[in-house]
Parts: sequence; C-alpha cells; structure tokens
Amino acid sequence: MRNLGTPDDPYDVIGLGFGPSNIALAIAAQEIVPDRRCLFLERSPDTRWHEGMLIDGARMQISFLKDLVSLRNLASPFTFLQYEKAKGRLEKFVNLAEFRPTRLEFQDYLRWVAAQFGGMVRYRSAVRAVTPVRDDDGALSLFRVTATDTATGEVVEYHARNIVHALGGVPRVPDAVTLGPTVVHSSAFLSTVPGTFTDHDREWEFAVAGDGQSAGEITHYLLGRYRNARVHLILPGYSLRATDNNPFANEQFFEANADDFYSRNEANRRDYAASLRTTNYGVVEEGFLDDLYRLVYADEVRGRTRLVVHDGSRLTRAGADGAGIRIGVDSRFGGGSRVLRADGLVLATGYRRELDPAMYREVLPYLDTDGDGRPVVSRDHRVRATEELTCGLYVQGFAEATHGLGDTLLSLLPFRSKQIITAIAKDGGSLARAVPPARHDAEPDTATLVALIDRCGSGTLVSAGPGEFPVATRLPLVLDRDRGRHGVLFGLLGRTDPQLPLLDGGKVLAVFQPDAAPPGEPPAGNSMSIDVRGCARLVTDRDLLVAHLARLDPADSGPAARAGGSVGVEIEIEALSGRFPLSPEPHAVRTESERQS
Ligand code: NAP
Repeated sequence: MRNLGTPDDPYDVIGLGFGPSNIALAIAAQEIVPDRRCLFLERSPDTRWHEGMLIDGARMQISFLKDLVSLRNLASPFTFLQYEKAKGRLEKFVNLAEFRPTRLEFQDYLRWVAAQFGGMVRYRSAVRAVTPVRDDDGALSLFRVTATDTATGEVVEYHARNIVHALGGVPRVPDAVTLGPTVVHSSAFLSTVPGTFTDHDREWEFAVAGDGQSAGEITHYLLGRYRNARVHLILPGYSLRATDNNPFANEQFFEANADDFYSRNEANRRDYAASLRTTNYGVVEEGFLDDLYRLVYADEVRGRTRLVVHDGSRLTRAGADGAGIRIGVDSRFGGGSRVLRADGLVLATGYRRELDPAMYREVLPYLDTDGDGRPVVSRDHRVRATEELTCGLYVQGFAEATHGLGDTLLSLLPFRSKQIITAIAKDGGSLARAVPPARHDAEPDTATLVALIDRCGSGTLVSAGPGEFPVATRLPLVLDRDRGRHGVLFGLLGRTDPQLPLLDGGKVLAVFQPDAAPPGEPPAGNSMSIDVRGCARLVTDRDLLVAHLARLDPADSGPAARAGGSVGVEIEIEALSGRFPLSPEPHAVRTESERQS
C-alpha cells in the first residue's frame, strides 16, 4: 500500500470524482487560490460524461454560455469559447448560430479542460473509504481516503483537510429488478443495447420505463434505429410532458435566486421545489416531443402502431427468463397489476443522490442529518458536523432539498465551485495548520501590484497551445497604464526568442519577481511574485514599434534603431494577482516609495 498526502503533509483538497462539478472546482481553485494543493480521484480512465446517453445528435438543454466558468469569469482560459478557439472551430461554431451544442461536443470540451489539469488527477482510482483521522489534540482534523487503482489493484491512501464529494447520482432501479444484458438502466444504454440487439430489422419488443428526457431520447432511438420494433412506454402520468423552459421559471437557476432558495423555510422550499419540478424531472424537451410524435405519426400513415403507451403505470419488477423478460407493471389508479413480455427493457427511471453509506461508514456518525436522514448542508456546501470533526466535507449535487433544483445541474457550477473554494480558503481552522504563519500580511491591491511591475522592468512570459509544451521567455516588459482597463504590457522579443505559441490573440501569463536576490545572497524581505494574465498580440509594424518605444520612454534617443529587425508583443492585461512563494518568513507588501522611506 502506498501513501500520498501523508498526515504530516496532507492535501488541502481531495475531490472525489472528476466530472463537471469537480472540473469546475479545479478551475476555481487555480483562478482563486492557486497555492492550494488539490488532488482529484476519478474511477474512469479518462473524463467521461454520461457516455451511456451520448446519443448521436443529442443536444445540451442549456446554452454553451453556461459552461464551467463563463458566468463567474468571462476572461477565464477555460470557457467554451476558448475551447472552440483552441480547436480552430470558433468561427464555424458562430456560423452555426446554435446556443445548445451537442452533448458529444460538450463532453469534448470537458475533456479539453480536464486535460489541462491532468497533473492533479489520478484516473482509474476507485474510492473505497473516507475515514476521519484523530490528531494529537483529539480533534478529527484530517480525512484519510482509501482508493484502489482499477488497473493494478494497488490500494493507495491519501490524506486531506477537505473532501469535495462529486461522485454523481446512482441509477434508480426498483429492488425487484435484475439487471443484465437485456435489462439495463439508461446510464448503460449505449454501452449495452446496440451491442446486444444487433439485428435492426427484427420485430423486437422493447419496453422503456420512465417519462423524462432519457425515456424520450431512448424511445426515439429505438423506434428510429429498429424499423420493425415496437416500444412499450411505461410511464406514471397521463402522457409524456414538455419541459417547462419558460424564462421566468428558469430564473431559479440564477446565482442570487439559488441563494434565496436556501434562505427559505423547509415548507416553502418543498412547495417551490414541487411547483418547479417540471423544469427538470420527468419531462422531455418540447421540440424533441414534436419530433417523436412525427415519427409515430409516420408509422400510423404506413398502417403500423409501434409506440404503445402504458399510462398511469409503474414498473415494479423485471427479470429475464428463457422466453425473454417478464415485466411487472402496476396501475397507479387501481387498475391492478399485469405482466408485459419484452425482448429488451430500459429503465429510464432517473437517479438517486446519497452519500454511499459503506464509503462514509466512519464519517456518518459525526454528520448532522435532517428528518429524512439526509446530511444537512450549509450555504457554502459544507456538510454540518459535530465540533469534533474539524476537517471539511463538501458536497456537489447532494443538497437539492436545501439548495434547489439547480443543485444537480450544470447552470450553477461556476458559482458553487467558487463558494466552496472560497470557504475552504477562509477556513482558518484547518488551513492555519497547513500554511506557515503570517504568510499574507496584506492583500495586495492593484496599485501595489502595478508599482511592483514598474520596478521590475522585465518578466517571464509563458505561453502554451493545447498539447504543446509551455514556452517561457524572459524579456524586458514595460507597462503602459494609459491603455486598456488594467494597462498594456509591451515588450521586444529578441531575434533568438521563440515566437510564442498561441501568441497572436492567445492567452499568456507574465510572471514578475521584483525581489529576486542576486546569486549567493538570501532573498530580500519582500519576495512576492506577480502573475499577469492577458491576451497577447504581435506587433510587427516597424512604425508602430518605434511609436511604442518612443512613447514609453521619451528620453530614449534610439527607438528606431532598437525596433529594427525586432518583433514587439503587446499584452492586454486581464487579471493581476500577487503570490508569495512558500516561506516561513513574514512578508509585507511595500511599494517602491515605502521601501525608500
Ligand atoms: P428523470 O427526469 O428523473 O425521470 C425519471 C422518471 O422516471 C421520473 O419521472 C420517475 O417518476 C419515473 N420513474 C421512476 N421509477 C419508475 C418506475 N418504476 N416506473 C415508471 N416510471 C418510473 O430522469 P432522466 O430522464 O434520466 O433525466 C435526469 C436528468 O438528466 C435530467 O436533468 C435531464 O434533463 C437530464 N438529461 C439530459 C439529456 C440531454 O441533455 N439531452 C438527456 C437525458 C437526461 P417518479 O419521480 O414519479 O418516480
């Protein structure tokens, strides 16, 4: 057994699962608290997103602008539009005039983002147990996470001060249903059904239980791909229903309104959640219902009825016998029970969300629970616990009752990840022990950072395209504060400097270290480095170069000579942040004038 992140040197955060929620968390951590040590454990060998339902042509149900980060930070390098740009499809995507990408493309976007955090993810890691660890003071201040490498079987232990659980839902399957190659949950639809039912002309009898988007898409798929098949749709209500997509109801997914939901009392929350249910659960997108109805109607014209709706019904049991599958169906309105026979059954019955009792066996006794036995989750998504448990357990997607219907959806991910990461960063109780004391004497403001950049004169420019190695070049960089919102950096690339990848219009990072000590000398008191993120552009026009040089340093008599044969680079500053390298020394942020006084 190996140990990573030991009790003496634990991770700040271990994220369980690396799907959309924890990928968004990785982005927020990098953009808000880049010095925290984060690790993510993911059972799959790579990033996968509801692969069993990635039906050809299936579309997202929300705008691409509701990606992992845009609504929190439009300037992030991890937006969906940055992905399109990096893939060279931005103009074509705009040409599509489509707000809702296919689910396949969104998965590709998730993979593109995930690949940029590859260094902090351990794929093929199946988490088995989360256990609280007692410290010398008697507090349970750490979690131990035990995971198995699914490729080698090796058991690995990790330690962390905070866990962010984002393992998603578990398929909802009635107890009396035996799953197998011909009886599957929708989450395994594409990985099972096409391979099991390979004859597309046979007169198959299929059954689908459920009335949500999954049931709609699967029914459409089966009727469309198996031209002689019949589909029995077992649904609890009168018919399939359209998603309530009206913009007023959709406002529940706004950041402020989700927060407002949390402030309400329990009865009020239950009432609103019930009235808003048709914005998400047990409903099918309106346009999709029309397509399905057209398909069914075209069959009627040919004299065939291939969709049989069993309304007011619930599937209660199912299992394969020698002659196919026996499916028990109960009427919800006193019509008794009956048995259906089919060749294949898909349970499009949704998901349940609960912390795995086996995985959290030793943690559950310390957690506060509500009247229904669910963990009580605070506004910042931390599970409330007894005072003894001082390490933080945060959950993503397990608090719908208190945080509203958006809790299991993509819409609120940018905000939730920020809430969690900010809460973790503020959590003096746990992090105070991790970080050497008095590392941040003062939060540097923009004026301070600008003053420090001015003093530096040169910085290191880092740029990288997807899949390429980063390129770093140290070069003179001067700040023109009169242009752009935060200013524009200007530098001259020498003949031997590489023309940085992605430079023209691409994102770059400029790092300034004002107090780099001379060789052999100890670091000066203030050793903060400054990160500048921005969009770069090449300046090749010689007249423009001369103008830049003359403007930035009017005393310079030879800008024309300096510009000869050079290439300039301009960086429109989007974000500035100060960072202290790890050091036990207290640091103070001082401007040049303060240093001189
Ligand atoms: P869902 O919306 O939860 O629907 C499942 C339905 O099955 C519920 O209405 C449930 O009714 C019913 N059901 C449960 N047990 C049943 C039984 N034994 N017999 C008959 N019916 C039963 O699940 P989903 O369709 O998988 O959708 C889940 C989420 O994924 C939604 O947010 C959906 O929008 C999303 N999704 C998106 C796409 C896409 O973007 N293209 C595709 C698929 C899914 P009760 O609640 O009354 O039990």
